[in-house]
Amino acid sequence: MATPTTIETPIYHETDATLEPLDGKTVAVIGYGNQGRAQARNMHESGVDVIVGNREDSSHEQATQDGFEVYSIADATARADVVLLLVPDEVQPAIYDRDVGPNLETGDTLVFASGYNVTCDRIALDDDIDVVLVAPRMIGAVVRELYEDGRGAPALLAVEQDASGQAHSRALAVAHAIGATRSGVIETEFETETRTDLMSEQGLFPVFASALLARFEVESAAGVPPAVTLLESYLSREMAHIFEKCATQGLVSQMDLHSRTSQYGQLLGLDEFDREPIREFLRERLDAIDSGEFAAEWTAEQESGYERLSSLRDEYESSEFVETEQATLDAFGLRGL
Ligand code: NDP
Repeated sequence: MATPTTIETPIYHETDATLEPLDGKTVAVIGYGNQGRAQARNMHESGVDVIVGNREDSSHEQATQDGFEVYSIADATARADVVLLLVPDEVQPAIYDRDVGPNLETGDTLVFASGYNVTCDRIALDDDIDVVLVAPRMIGAVVRELYEDGRGAPALLAVEQDASGQAHSRALAVAHAIGATRSGVIETEFETETRTDLMSEQGLFPVFASALLARFEVESAAGVPPAVTLLESYLSREMAHIFEKCATQGLVSQMDLHSRTSQYGQLLGLDEFDREPIREFLRERLDAIDSGEFAAEWTAEQESGYERLSSLRDEYESSEFVETEQATLDAFGLRGL
């Protein structure tokens, strides 16, 4: 039984999960990149029988050096009962069609770390397999660091297909093995994970970045040296530390760490800010996600060889903002710190 919380969705912790559903099973991690390497090592150290599937290259060598038996993607899938598909979302459909789908047996469990391809019908899944989601809310390197520290990254869990009758318990066991139940594993659906993940990327991040760009424009026009604005905005990392405190203490409680002048300014600005244009922008992005407009656009973009992605990247890389930012990083020895 999941630990009760004030949140109405079940959240699973250490005492709610066991590794038993994986007893006698072989787990294949397909792709040994950001998530693959972290999750494979965590599961192995948790006592799970893990093998790796990767094409023959540096990731393959890395997995071998880390002590894993490494096979081709097709062979690893064929040997396993539980398969974690941890290659980039853009290549998953082709890899599933060619190497994974044909080698899955009835009752095997396919684990995604992102809901995108399932939600957007980009993979034609066989219906005699379990299809589950175990999606850490953390980059791979930190999934590993937290595990080594005796902690874990929170994760989302969902079941799309339950052919074995054990899809949920197996997914929870995988989440447990990667360390996620040490923090908390929240039950959701593939669609919800996809919507919120995409909204972080194309809704929230652009709002944050636009605030930084707008401030740069306003203060530059008002005579503030651009490097001073950028240090104050985020390059000094003070803002990053404030966000860290927001994540560990709360958005308002972290204000205790600031002067009264700062607290008053933060709350006054928050109170006077008109959030409606932001809400409108976020609603538009969510509509584009929900209607499939974004998925269609992104598929066309991939087919075009990432033309718009490259031109947008070039446009922002050559902007005055980014050029000043890069020069400021070097001037203060902040690059890569
Ligand atoms: P990576 O980009 O780190 O994956 C790299 C791995 O995929 C490497 O092993 C690479 O092998 C292999 N790979 C890449 N292209 C191909 C190809 N064409 N054919 C065969 N193998 C290929 O992926 P992530 O770890 O970032 O993402 C994996 C999943 O996790 C995704 O679903 C993602 O959405 C999800 N996720 C990612 C997070 C993150 O922190 N990055 C956070 C939460 C979820 P090679 O060395 O041969 O290139």
